[in-house]
Amino acid sequence: MADLQRVTRWANALIALHLDARVWSFGFDNAKTRAGQCNYTAHRITVSRYLAARYEDDEIHQILLHEVAHALAGPAAAHGPRWVAVAREIGYEGSRLHDGERADELAPWIGRCPAGHEYFRHRRPTNRVSCSVCARGFSSAHVIEWTRRDVAAARRAVHRAAR
Ligand SMILES: [Zn+2]
Ligand SMILES: [Zn+2]
Repeated sequence: MADLQRVTRWANALIALHLDARVWSFGFDNAKTRAGQCNYTAHRITVSRYLAARYEDDEIHQILLHEVAHALAGPAAAHGPRWVAVAREIGYEGSRLHDGERADELAPWIGRCPAGHEYFRHRRPTNRVSCSVCARGFSSAHVIEWTRRDVAAARRAVHRAAR
């Protein structure tokens, strides 16, 4: 479990190292569906306090590098080759976290299309939805089946750790 004060120290150190510390700042946000965010307008990198408390130190470090790379590469780079190059250069490995920003483990609804693509939602979708990977537009052959799973234990762990 990462300690929030320590996370703040790392974040500020990374900002001082790679960015302009007079321009960029760091803080926590309350997001539950993504781990980190880079706000180019406010010049602010934020990390979910829920996830920060839940992830291991090296995972948090990776999230911070992911976001610092966004700040360096600029909004137009998105997750494209330029961002990847910058991210690799500053030490982002990109393992274990998919794109480093999602926090699917706290979403109780899991959807799977017939081909096995997974979707995560905090609420059960009210309409029938089909897989956007398998088919563009709605396709009844690729409808997603939703199942609810128990994330209460994960949530409790988060709240305990956040205190
Ligand atoms: Zn990203
Ligand atoms: Zn699919």
